[in-house]
This record gives sequence, structure tokens and C-alpha cells, in this order.
Amino acid sequence: MEIRSIRGMNDILPEDSILWKHVRDTMHRVLARYGFREILIPVLEETRLFQRGIGETTDIVEKEMYTFEDRSGQSLTLRPEATASIVRAYVQHHLYTSGKVEKFYFWGPMFRYERPQKGRYRQFYQIDVEAFGSNDPSLDTDVIASLYDFLAALRVPGVTIEINSLGCPKCRPGYHQALKAYFSDKQVKLCPDCKSRLVRNPLRILDCKVETCHALAMNAPNIHEFLCDTCKTHFRGVRGYLEDLRIPTRLNPMMVRGLDYYVQTTFEAVSENLGAQNAVAGGGRYDGLVRQLGGPDIPGIGYAMGMERLVMILKEAGEEPMEWPCDLFIATLGKDARRFGITLAAKIRKTGKVCEFSYEPKSLKALMKLANRLNARFTAIIGEDEMREQKIVLRNMETREQVTLPMDDSLPEMIVVSLDNADDSRSTQRPPFPSSFPEKSSR
Ligand code: AMP
Repeated sequence: MEIRSIRGMNDILPEDSILWKHVRDTMHRVLARYGFREILIPVLEETRLFQRGIGETTDIVEKEMYTFEDRSGQSLTLRPEATASIVRAYVQHHLYTSGKVEKFYFWGPMFRYERPQKGRYRQFYQIDVEAFGSNDPSLDTDVIASLYDFLAALRVPGVTIEINSLGCPKCRPGYHQALKAYFSDKQVKLCPDCKSRLVRNPLRILDCKVETCHALAMNAPNIHEFLCDTCKTHFRGVRGYLEDLRIPTRLNPMMVRGLDYYVQTTFEAVSENLGAQNAVAGGGRYDGLVRQLGGPDIPGIGYAMGMERLVMILKEAGEEPMEWPCDLFIATLGKDARRFGITLAAKIRKTGKVCEFSYEPKSLKALMKLANRLNARFTAIIGEDEMREQKIVLRNMETREQVTLPMDDSLPEMIVVSLDNADDSRSTQRPPFPSSFPEKSSR
């Protein structure tokens, strides 16, 4: 019987993975400009890291973690998000002793036992960005600006950055009380989840997707009437800097985010092209988390971006699918040509060109078909005649022009020169996928 992948866990095939690669290349390029450095973390962590780090009353910890005991009986969990792990690494390796704001990024798979649907999977990939060591609004601004620049560099259309402040341990309890007072006489209309949220974490009622809860939440007290002076000043600072940078944001007082550790600034990038699962990225400030996980009292802020959703928007907005490049296809006919050809392929690859080879014996006609299927710019034809005459035929697959080159030591170089000087539409490096995205206004 055929074995299939696990529900909610997808294969990313090469026709898509090239676009994923483009997203990752852009990530490295844009984040490096801000001084973010790549960090790699394990897929498995002790379960208590997430229980303590994400919060016991969150959906993730309550019902979505892949948790199991290993052979020694230790409880382990497949990471459902990266922030807790990166904080753990920051504390474990005493990275706070560096005397500077530490800025990291990471990308990799996350695991949550959610109900799969479009844009929601059980294994999904996130790009994660975290910064530690300052509570100044300028750091919030840089982190949000890096998200904006990333989306702009990818030319992601139809995305808005929403922003909010969730207050701090000083002012949030007052807001909790106000929410409790507001919702308590409306309890009968709340969904079962929100009934329990009312007791444990009333803030979460504000982002419930159930229609009746949502309708009630619309008239709930507004957090901004409860922020303390410190939080107000901080939020004003962030918004002011963002305005200076001409980064458009929309205030959304209802945005609370699903994780317990956030304080003050929270933000989400939402897309008009994604349907129900419309958040591309989300994040916020988590000033108490480093201490909660055993480190000193150091503030932090970060965000996570869903790669599947990002790729989905890019694909819907793009005109043409991207193809893996192939500079040269070496088409050989006969045993001697094959032997010569495989060595030639190795030499061409050493020059940095992408070179494919005719592994299976085929007729010339079939080889030409294969060259087109491989999307080769050029084909080197090496048959029995060519071997006898010690030359090869180099064919430009677009213009159909052919040249004959001698089979001597200069052959690899001659081929590379021909490739570099060719006049076909792919002779220059292609622009990032896809070239037709509307340019975001540059700032
Ligand atoms: P979160 O860690 O829940 O704040 O999510 C951050 C981003 O990760 C979201 O905006 C989504 O783009 C993505 N994401 C979260 N959960 C899933 C999931 N189950 N499947 C696909 N993407 C997800």
C-alpha cells in the first residue's frame, strides 16, 4: 500500500521550492542590513520550555503541541514556535553579556496540532526575527521596519501592518478587570472557549473568530484608555518613528495576539489575499520573557512570518512560475561521447554554470526534447561524428544558432564565453520572481 505524508504536513516540490529559496535569499539580504545574524535551534526542546515560555492558557500549549516521552522518559516537544527556543539559547549561552543589542533570525519548520485548512498546517515554516537588549521605541521601529522592508523587497501586494499596544503588567490588570466587567453579563452569548477565557485570559476574547463573540468584542472597552503613562509614551514613540520612516501602519486596538508573553507593542502583517487565515506575520515585545526563562531582566521584541502564506500570496500575484536555471545541457550519443561528456560537465560546473547531463541513452530528437524540458539555455551536442572529428556543436536553444567548437583544452572556457556573450532572453541574471509585482512606494 502506498504510504502518504501525514495530514497537515506537506512536501514542497522543486517547482515551488525555487520560490521558497527566493524568499530565503531575500530574508538573508534584507535582515543582514539591520544587523540580524542567523541562529539555528533544535527541533526538539524540553516540554516545560514552551509551557513556561508560551503560557499555559494559550491554544498552543493547551491543545496543539506534539509532545511525547523519549526513551528515557523525558517529556519533549516539537517546537511550535521559535521565540522560546531563541530566548533559551540567549540565556543558556549568556549572550546578554555581549554589551550590545543582540539581533537574530532563524527559519525552519514549526509543529502545531491544528485543524488543517488552506494556509494552516501541522508542519509549517516560519521566518523568525528576534532582538534583545533594549526597551527603546527605536528597536521596535527597526524590527517592524525590517518586516516592512522584507515584504517590500519581495513585492508582496496587498499587505497592511497593523499595530497595537497591549500594555504592561502594571496597566493590563486594570484592562482585564474592565473586560471581565463588560463580558460577564454577556456570558451566555459567548462561545465555550471564550467562557473559559473570561475567567483565565479575557484579552483573548477580542480575537475570537466566532461571529457572536466578535460582535460583542466590537463594543468592548478599548485598551488605549487603560495604558499607563510609560506604555502610552512608548507607543507614541514607536508610531512617531514609523511615521518618520514613512512606514504605513494601521492601529488595531482589537489585535491581542495568541501568546501570553507579549507586552506593549504588538503588530501583524495582514493580507487581503489570504481569506480566513490572513496573517502573514505577527509579533511583539516580550520584556518579561528572558527573566521568566531563567535569564536576567532583559527586554526583547520579535516577529514570526509564515512562509507558506507568503509563498501563497507571491504565487497568486505572479504571472509566470519560476524555473530552476539550466545553463547547459550536455547531450551525448554513444559510449565515447558519454565518457567525454561527463568530464566536460564536471569542468563546466566548476566554472559556476548549471550543467545537466544526458544520463539515459536517447536519440538526438529525444535529447533535444529533453533539453527543452530541462529549460536549458544551451545544448552541447556530442555524437559519434563529433568524437571522430574532435569537435562539439553548441546550440543556443532560443535563437537556434549553432557553433562548432574544437575538443581541446580550451573547450570549457570557449563554452563559458559563448554562454556569457549570448543574446538570448535569459543571458543576464533574471530579475527576482516575479518581475511583474507592483513596486511598493520606496521610502
Ligand atoms: P504565530 O506564531 O501564531 O504568531 O504565527 C506567526 C505566523 O506564522 C502567522 O502569521 C502565520 O503566517 C504563520 N502560521 C502560524 N500558524 C500556522 C499554521 N498552522 N500553518 C501555517 N502558517 C502558520
